[in-house]
Amino acid sequence: MESMAVSTSLPNTDEDFDRNVPRICGVCGDKATGFHFNAMTCEGCKGFFRRSMKRKAVFTCPFNGNCTITKDNRRHCQACRLKRCTSIGMMKEFILTDEEVQRKKDMIMKRKEEEAVRESMKPKLTEEQQHIIDVLLEAHHKTYDSSYSDFNSFRPPVRQDCQGTNPSKAPSVDSLSSSSFASHLTHSDLPDSNVGFVNLLTVPDQASSESSPESLGNSSFSMLPHLADLVSYSIQKVIGFAKMIPGFRELSTEDQIALLKSSAIEIIMLRSNESFNQDDMSWTCGSDDFKYSVNDVSQAGHNMELLEPLVKFQIGLKKLNLHEEEHVLLMAICLLSPDRPGVQDTAQVEGLQDHLSNILQAYIRCKHPPPGGRLLYAKMIQKLADLRSLSEEHSKQYRSLSIQPEHTMKLTPLVMEVFGNEIS
Ligand SMILES: [Zn+2]
Ligand SMILES: [Zn+2]
Repeated sequence: MESMAVSTSLPNTDEDFDRNVPRICGVCGDKATGFHFNAMTCEGCKGFFRRSMKRKAVFTCPFNGNCTITKDNRRHCQACRLKRCTSIGMMKEFILTDEEVQRKKDMIMKRKEEEAVRESMKPKLTEEQQHIIDVLLEAHHKTYDSSYSDFNSFRPPVRQDCQGTNPSKAPSVDSLSSSSFASHLTHSDLPDSNVGFVNLLTVPDQASSESSPESLGNSSFSMLPHLADLVSYSIQKVIGFAKMIPGFRELSTEDQIALLKSSAIEIIMLRSNESFNQDDMSWTCGSDDFKYSVNDVSQAGHNMELLEPLVKFQIGLKKLNLHEEEHVLLMAICLLSPDRPGVQDTAQVEGLQDHLSNILQAYIRCKHPPPGGRLLYAKMIQKLADLRSLSEEHSKQYRSLSIQPEHTMKLTPLVMEVFGNEIS
């Protein structure tokens, strides 16, 4: 076999070496370049060892056989230099033949090619898809103020100690449902989250009692003005967000209104997830004043038929750990549902929704790998189905709330316009 030795500096030898340790040639003390034939050496000693092995050279020391090899004198005595090579562990077995070198080069090339193929196969978002995601993110940032400072302009929250003061006078089903619309609306944005477990527990009892709505008194709906303002505010923000969704403004005004009317509460519930706090099951919007428990929401007239599934929904949504990109896409997809009542040009709405759901699926493929992204799209679509039943229950409760003038007068014109005014 041709002993044509070719030196190799293994590409991975660098990793074997602590970068902070000085690299000194074990033969001559010069600056080393890595491991060569099993020892840390400089390029000069590497070449010397390889050539010597290739030639099967036999050297004789002109001195007394124990020369000290340095960077400057390493050429003076080949015998002692080679002896030094062997003594620090350099081995001719580590010298590759031409064939081996070629095979190694081929392997490196092949690995690079495979890497390039893998890179090109990686799913990527198109520029257009990325652009739409950027537009939606910006739309959300412009319409969701996470400082919640605007809440100070709402009618102030009034909380009553229902449990202690009048347990028997718990809000009746009727009264709860009637006032619940407004509170639901508000809840979904941020206050909804206030539905604490304590409330959940107490409210069902109250609801089961047959007390008349009047027995609740105004106190039962003490949170209604504040939460109605919150919902009203949120509706405005949802409208602002919708207008920035690419394609939304190209829809007829009638269809824009139909979509907004039926999805507003659902979008509010979705966006309120940002403030939902799983630790205490509340929607936490800044200060304690604006920290809403289930109990608070029930004091705006909503009952557990809505609040319990709503809290479950918030927890489930939180657990998906959505990226903000996915969160905004989900809101836009929810808004552009072609099957909403009153939509005329369903094909156009469907086209927009399909486009957005394709972007969402592409985003998950590219940016949200398993385990987090596993079945994520399906789970998100399930959340849209959950929202439909929440919306239905909200509607029911709002309707019973809004048939009572003393409650409707606490709402806002926008809330009544969007959710309907049963009185008029
Ligand atoms: Zn050296
Ligand atoms: Zn010597």
